[in-house]
Amino acid sequence: MILVTGGAGFIGSNFILDWLAHSDEAIVNLDQLTYAGNLNNLAALRGDARHLFVRGDIGDQSLVAALLARHRPRALVHFAAESHVDRSIAAPSQFIATNIGGTFALLEAARAYWHCLPEPERAGFRFLHVSTDEVYGSLAPDEAAFTERSAYAPNSPYAASKAASDHLVRASFHTYGLPTLTSNCSNNYGPYQFPEKLIPLMIATALAGRALPVYGDGMQVRDWLYVGDHCAALRRILAAGRPGEVYNVGGENEMTNIDVVRTLCDLLDVAAPARASYRQQITHVADRAGHDRRYAVDAGKLRRELGWTPAEHFASGIARTVHWYLAQRAWADEIASGAYRDAHWPAGGAA
Ligand code: NAD
Repeated sequence: MILVTGGAGFIGSNFILDWLAHSDEAIVNLDQLTYAGNLNNLAALRGDARHLFVRGDIGDQSLVAALLARHRPRALVHFAAESHVDRSIAAPSQFIATNIGGTFALLEAARAYWHCLPEPERAGFRFLHVSTDEVYGSLAPDEAAFTERSAYAPNSPYAASKAASDHLVRASFHTYGLPTLTSNCSNNYGPYQFPEKLIPLMIATALAGRALPVYGDGMQVRDWLYVGDHCAALRRILAAGRPGEVYNVGGENEMTNIDVVRTLCDLLDVAAPARASYRQQITHVADRAGHDRRYAVDAGKLRRELGWTPAEHFASGIARTVHWYLAQRAWADEIASGAYRDAHWPAGGAA
């Protein structure tokens, strides 16, 4: 049994589906169902006894303690967070509460649980903290990619809150010996991403015939990783990562934002032809405040020590992703209408 937080979000739901495709080990999924949580992402698991959904806040230490005592997981995989940079600029306080306060409460509950575990469960327990490459700040065009030894220099309230959570995880290992693992991953793309993020936002906006807003000159560089490759990396880190270590996860696939948007337009031109090329809908808008110019991640440690490499090339992964969103219009429509918030977990599948 493992406990996953934030398993109704984008990466967390992909992780749960991927996990249960590879193993019969059950999952307790603790998610508060904020606007970003969507139980429709897990519709394929309705009636599957291996997945137990619990609606709740990671900051509720007594709830987490009760779940740990009841289900006795061998590991905790922590995805739950406020994750959208633009929202963190407009209203940062929830990012501080969830990403810092929530992670701290979770660490405290995990530490109390772990402390009382008998051996060998105590030695085998893991707390895997899922974090971002944004904690390292921005790179110049000619600078080498971030390694696990790069200095932290977060620039947005989101990145700062994730950086703080990484430090609390680090401190829990160094001070108390809690067997933690931290992963810092680049931008993910794939199914079930909330349509406020670049790729699903651009697909939905293009199909609606509206202007495609690209921040500034669109020359901001990001490394893109298919979400399934991230899930595989997390399974690998959980299985073989060394306690106290940090692992960077990336696709070695740097692209400018404008090139990502043009690629989406070109794929849509073929898959969902409109009267004119979707590229004509691209418009440049005022840049995001403090927008980082470039992120790039060196995943060499994960490759060398744990043998992980990404399987999906961007060209095939992005084509699959576009086709997924085209085939899942009902999923997107439920988000647009707000109906996804009424998705319930049927009796027997929830705790
Ligand atoms: P998301 O916004 O899609 O999902 C977050 C989930 O957490 C939602 O289901 C939400 O309901 C839940 N949640 C929020 N606050 C909660 C709380 N207080 N208690 C319980 N649940 C709560 O996020 P995502 O894109 O899936 O990202 C997951 C994790 O991966 C985050 O920690 C993020 O920082 C990290 N990450 C994301 C990316 C990316 O490209 N999306 C890249 C690297 C790292």
